Amino acid sequence: MQKTMISFLALFLLVTSCTSVPHQSEVSKAVKKQVIILLGAPGSGKGTHGIPLSQKLSIPVLSTGDLLRDQLRNKTDLGEKARPFMEKGALVPDELIVDIVLNRISADDCSNGYILDGFPRTLPQAQLLVEKIKNDSQIKAIFFEVKDQTVIERITGRLSCPKCGRPYHKTFNPPKHKGHCDCGTELTQRADDKEEIIVKRLKEYHLSTEPVIKYFAEQNFLKTLDAEKKPDEVWTDLQQVL
Ligand code: AMP
Repeated sequence: MQKTMISFLALFLLVTSCTSVPHQSEVSKAVKKQVIILLGAPGSGKGTHGIPLSQKLSIPVLSTGDLLRDQLRNKTDLGEKARPFMEKGALVPDELIVDIVLNRISADDCSNGYILDGFPRTLPQAQLLVEKIKNDSQIKAIFFEVKDQTVIERITGRLSCPKCGRPYHKTFNPPKHKGHCDCGTELTQRADDKEEIIVKRLKEYHLSTEPVIKYFAEQNFLKTLDAEKKPDEVWTDLQQVL
């Protein structure tokens, strides 16, 4: 009788342990970080949507342009190395940017995931990133597709306040008083937002970043949005693809 009881108990423990332990793939799925990569030409709207998306998902948005501009402002060695490339509208070399990004995504606030805006921009950057994060991340790349002419119109009108950082657009989001922020400070245009520089940035984008888009499509990570649409329509489409 006692023997039967022991065998019954052993069988019960075996069955319950088999049913309560999740399958290996469920474990890895549960702990994967959500990594959203925003791709598109400068002025395609990826920056505009990155911030509300970050608030909605409670994960940080990391803009490599902003990270580099911080280095420039603080006159760090890295900033001084990046400056000549940025001022003429060229990409900074991969070895300068990759370390900044890998370092940033290992910070505590990225432990549940993060949004990348402006990275990767070259095929080696993309391959390196995917290699580093693929085991612990669920990757989604969102391509904001827009015509070059639209980009030029959007970017040449961009202004921002050097004091409070508030962005404006001469046509689409003008300040109350021409040329001045609502806080009173004179608005400035980014040095690389001038038309001749934008044309160079677009050339660079087509040459370097289009292979990245192709690569993400081949990896089945890519979703494409029509970024010619109005911002609120693009936002709705973005919710759908995510
Ligand atoms: P953005 O604000 O994203 O338009 O970036 C401004 C500038 O920063 C670019 O024109 C590049 O010079 C540099 N930059 C930003 N992200 C990258 C990147 N992933 N690779 C190389 N250069 C970059």
